This record gives sequence, structure tokens and C-alpha cells, in this order.
Amino acid sequence: MIIPNVNVLSDEQLKEVTDIVTAFGSKVMAIKGQERSIYAIVGDERNDDMVTKLEGLPYVGRVDRIQSPHKLMDIRASLATHRVKLGGIELGQEPFFFAGPCTIDPKNPNLTIETAHAVKEAGAHVLRGGVWKPRSNPYSYQGDVKALHVLMEASRQTGLPVDTEVMDEEHLKIALEAGAHCLQVGARNALNYALLRQIGQAIADRDTCVLLKRGLHMGPVQEFISAAEYIVQLGNPNVILCPRGTQPTLDGYRNHPDESIVPLLKERTWAPVVVDPSHSVGKATYVPAAALAAIAYGADGLCIECNVHPNKGIGDDPKQAVTPDVLKRIISQARELWRIRHATKD
Ligand code: PEP
Ligand code: MN
Repeated sequence: MIIPNVNVLSDEQLKEVTDIVTAFGSKVMAIKGQERSIYAIVGDERNDDMVTKLEGLPYVGRVDRIQSPHKLMDIRASLATHRVKLGGIELGQEPFFFAGPCTIDPKNPNLTIETAHAVKEAGAHVLRGGVWKPRSNPYSYQGDVKALHVLMEASRQTGLPVDTEVMDEEHLKIALEAGAHCLQVGARNALNYALLRQIGQAIADRDTCVLLKRGLHMGPVQEFISAAEYIVQLGNPNVILCPRGTQPTLDGYRNHPDESIVPLLKERTWAPVVVDPSHSVGKATYVPAAALAAIAYGADGLCIECNVHPNKGIGDDPKQAVTPDVLKRIISQARELWRIRHATKD
């Protein structure tokens, strides 16, 4: 829909608009009002190049799209009946929990193994854990492929599927070969379209899931959904959206908690939403409240950093991992809140 900043387009202006729109295979239909006229684009109005050309015309105020640019992720798309499953469990049926250490220490495999058993016992469905880490400081621990063997051993012992972050094509290949069930795209790579495409291609014929974190500086809700569209358009629709706090931070927290984005995502897309309160608030003592807030906002689940001995962990664990007893309490309260939410759904 073209909304001009003049009352009505002159014949010359209308011709210019019509030429652009017809070049993209659509037509223009004038809707004449008493004071002002607007112009409908009849056909496919999703083409960004067409919209940019129209927006560049000095007499065009705005172009509003009725159709969503994310064709597959849209709540009205035929994929909306798709249900994402991880470890044989369908997301959306009951609250779903990812839990585990921030970073897997290859030198202390027992810590991960012990934590894996403890998060399972607490009710987690997926064991999360970083093998390769996106660190702001290049001198900090960057990861080690040996950690992947530890993660997969923990998976074998507990029967839990695993989620781990991949940052490049090599990680992707190694993680898939090792049998990782869910690939994490971190906040720093959420807008790395080349990586999103590589992941989409690599998992096109598999049932692997992707946990797509919300980017540190992502603004519009649509930007997040469109990042998921990059993966899904290549054939695998098993994408889970993961808000995890954005920047600038809310003073005192690690990021600006963004669980309130959940209803906005739910209005526009069918994809399950699993909130990460750990990176959002960045401190173990704040995690339970942020976790429950996310469930209250309608999240399908949570991704929580947990360690049997947070102080012995590496990466974020000493400050933001909760212990398994706290995780257990969060899970039980989240389930209770979920029941209340579903009982009073309107
Ligand atoms: C993590 O999950 O440990 C992590 C680094 O997440 P994010 O990309 O959200 O910072
Ligand atoms: Mn972390």
C-alpha cells in the first residue's frame, strides 16, 4: 500500500509509480478518498527492491506491506502447522527446558558429566554446553573440540539431546558429524547471514534443530524472524527463537532483559520461543525471576545455565550459572505458572 505525502498523485507521478510496480509483476490500484488517495499494490508486495524504489520517490510518504516479508515463518504460512520436536518432545505442549554449563571444560569432563545427570534429574529436556565460545577477549578461552566428546558422552550417559554453538563451517561440520541434536547460533552471529545459510544448507535433509539467539543489537521483531527465515527457506523448519537480552544494558544487568518480546513474536510467527534468562540478566540470583517472567509472557521454554559447582566452571558459570536445586525449583514453578497461564488463556 503506497501512501503518498500529496493528496493525490499527478498523472506523471502515477505513471512513475506504475512503471516501478509493473516492472516487479504487480499492478497499482488507486483508492480515492474525498481528501486523499492511497494506492494499493495488487500482486506480490514483498519485494524489497520494489519497496525501496517506491520509498525513494519524493512524493511517497510510506509504503505499508500487508504481506509479511518472512513467507515461511509467518503465522499465516502453511508451515504454521509444523511442530518442532527435540529429543522426541514436541515444543509447545509443555514447558521445555535447555540447561547445562556455559562452557564445557575439556580438562574437567566429570564436571560436565555430573552436571548433565543433575540437570536431567531436575527436569531438563536438553543438555546445553559450549564447545567453541564467542569471547569478547581474544585471550580468553576460545573452546576445544575435545569438549565436544565430553558433551556427547554426557548425552550418551543421560539420554539427553545436546545443544552447542557453532560459529563457522568447520564447527558446523564437526558438530553434525558428532551427532549434535541442536545447533546454537549465538547472539553475535544472529545476523551473520552467510553462517545462517550454511547452517540451513547443512541441515536441510536432517531433523537437527537450531536455537537462534536474538542478536545483541537486534531491533525490530521482524529482523529476528527474518534471520530464522534464512535457515528455514533452505528446507529445515526446526528453528527455535531465543531472546537472551539486548544492548544497551539495563544498568545492573548484563543485558536489557527482553522476555517481553514473546507475545510480539507469537503474534507473527509459529516458531517456538525459548527464553534465555541467564545471559539476559547475567547473574545467578536474578535468573529465577527472569525465568518466570518469560513463562508469564508466553514462552514455550527456557534455556538456563546450570552447573553443579558454578565456581569450578569456566566461561559465564561462576557468575551466572544456577545450581541444580535452583534449576529444579525454577522448572517446578515454571510448570505451575504454565498451568495457570493455560487455564486462564483469553
Ligand atoms: C551461551 O549460550 O553461552 C552464549 C555465549 O550465548 P549468547 O550468544 O546468547 O551470548
Ligand atoms: Mn554463557
